Amino acid sequence: MEFDSKQGFFESMLQEHGRPLVFAGPCSAETEAQVMQTAEALLPLNVQLFRAGIWKPRTRPGSFEGVGSKGLAWLGRVKRELGLRVTTEVATARHVEEALRQEIDVLWIGARTTVNPFAVQEIADALQGARVPVMVKNPVNPDLALWIGALERVYNAGITDVAAIHRGFSSYQKTKYRNMPLWQIPIELKAEFQGLTMIVDPSHIGGKRELIFPISQKALDLGFDGLMIETHPTPDLALSDAAQQVTPAALETILAKLQVRKVNYDDAELVNRAEKLRLQIDAADHHIIAALARRMALVEQIGEYKKQNNVQVLQLERWKEIFKTRAEWATEAGVNAAFIEELYKLIHVESIRKQTQVMNKE
Ligand code: PEP
Ligand code: MN
Repeated sequence: MEFDSKQGFFESMLQEHGRPLVFAGPCSAETEAQVMQTAEALLPLNVQLFRAGIWKPRTRPGSFEGVGSKGLAWLGRVKRELGLRVTTEVATARHVEEALRQEIDVLWIGARTTVNPFAVQEIADALQGARVPVMVKNPVNPDLALWIGALERVYNAGITDVAAIHRGFSSYQKTKYRNMPLWQIPIELKAEFQGLTMIVDPSHIGGKRELIFPISQKALDLGFDGLMIETHPTPDLALSDAAQQVTPAALETILAKLQVRKVNYDDAELVNRAEKLRLQIDAADHHIIAALARRMALVEQIGEYKKQNNVQVLQLERWKEIFKTRAEWATEAGVNAAFIEELYKLIHVESIRKQTQVMNKE
């Protein structure tokens, strides 16, 4: 399947406004006044889509679960009176029907819904025959197939205007992020479906407003098309996600600081210099692979030796020493020690596999 959005809604917004598209607005619509005040403050900024959650999926019951259907009318006012396009999250067929009735411009499927194919299919069925663009957030768990599956269900319902939103993945360990970015997953999605518009949500990835700028810059450096940033007139008083929202003024500062880089080199001299560097990188990679081949040949020899002497393959002390010394050598050479440790874990697995093969050869 091709998510070819060339003629579509997101592509024409990109053509009109350039990168990044900016989608902003509060995590939740709380009151009509808060919605109107936020939207008015965003009007002078270059914002293409006003977001606000009406039905809020909350991890624990008892927290603010959104104002419900009445918030749709507030979004309707933003659209009619301020001329901003509006978007909200839908999680059930009823949400879709109500949002379509209120002529919400764009819908999005949240991370907790994307994980559930039944729920996504129910939404897709309710979307049949509609002409509304739909954005699909990644599932909370790092499962690319589930994300693609949700996009396909929406697409198969006749919605060709689809976009993906990367909002990070939850993990059991505490990290500096609320949801780990794991950039390789959205990059794989982009590689598979090149026409797909890719948005990043730095608010939900970071969980803290200080992280919004660095995550947004990273998203632009990686070639993502747009940003969805939670914006509230008084973030600390927000009824949901207070720590990760910024004021419209802070959003303006963040947007002004962002460096938008070119997709490609546009000058022959630059292309030439990049080409020379690429050739040198190719040569360096040949050396790395040749060194690995040499290493694996030696590993095979030591495997033979262990076999002759009936010694087991795994020698833990030796491996501990390898991890330690290689990390030290890396630091001395100015290479990130954590990266070398990860690399040696892979090398270890392969070395064990090779030796086990030698051991069990007749
Ligand atoms: C949101 O955008 O407010 C939201 C609930 O996001 P997510 O589905 O990414 O948690
Ligand atoms: Mn939120």
